[in-house]
Amino acid sequence: MPESVLAMILVDVHCHLDHACFKDKLDEVLKRAEEAGLKAIITNGINPETNRISLKLAEKYKMIRPALGIYPIDALRKEIEEFEYPVKFGEFDIDSELKFIEENKGKIAAIGEIGLDFVRSDEGQKKEQELLFRKFIELAKRIDKPIIVHSRKAELRVVEILEELKPKKVVLHCFSGRHHLVKRAIKNGWYLSIPCNIVRSEHFQKVVELCPLSHLFTETDAPLLSPYKERLNEPAFVVETIRKIAEIKQMDALEVANNIYQNYQRVFG
Ligand SMILES: [Zn+2]
Repeated sequence: MPESVLAMILVDVHCHLDHACFKDKLDEVLKRAEEAGLKAIITNGINPETNRISLKLAEKYKMIRPALGIYPIDALRKEIEEFEYPVKFGEFDIDSELKFIEENKGKIAAIGEIGLDFVRSDEGQKKEQELLFRKFIELAKRIDKPIIVHSRKAELRVVEILEELKPKKVVLHCFSGRHHLVKRAIKNGWYLSIPCNIVRSEHFQKVVELCPLSHLFTETDAPLLSPYKERLNEPAFVVETIRKIAEIKQMDALEVANNIYQNYQRVFG
């Protein structure tokens, strides 16, 4: 039997199981996840359409829990236009989506995916994104849910806004900010969730070095960021992140997994 893998309890706190590439094979993907030891998978909506799919998936599969949100709006529009994400970008009303999320608060594990993405934004668009991000943080505070935050080319601004609004439970997903920002996030008591591409990313290896195990999470961002170049990512692969964290922290993989599961219960419980 290979190491203690079979006894591990694993969690994937950030992925996109609504993605069309999972459509015909979700049963197999979830079977592999269960065999790998996954106890919970948080699938993150990115717009009204995927928020609703996420809720449906959670109703159908016990292992799946939904997080609902709106992905940073300019990045969302661009990715959909370029067919990287197979959903439509219909115009939608932000306030009615916020209301929908609030009405479903009893069913959700978190608010996400939300955040800022300044890769292709002008000043006006950045302001608009910030406004939306603030609304979601206020909602999370009101309904007492953790937030799962995306940040790209906007890490400092994300940190500043979070410090100003002080939501209680913050998970920075795939955080690529500089080391001083990573340290600032840790000091603020936030959590960092580590994708499987840590197997080849020096940045995430360093994040794990800096962050105490009590503030780490594992995620896949599936179908993106696979640890294997030739395969789409899926929740079962979080075990790769666990192994790498164990190597960096010089701990037993089982102990790492158990600690991260305790974090999960504390934050998303
Ligand atoms: Zn994501």
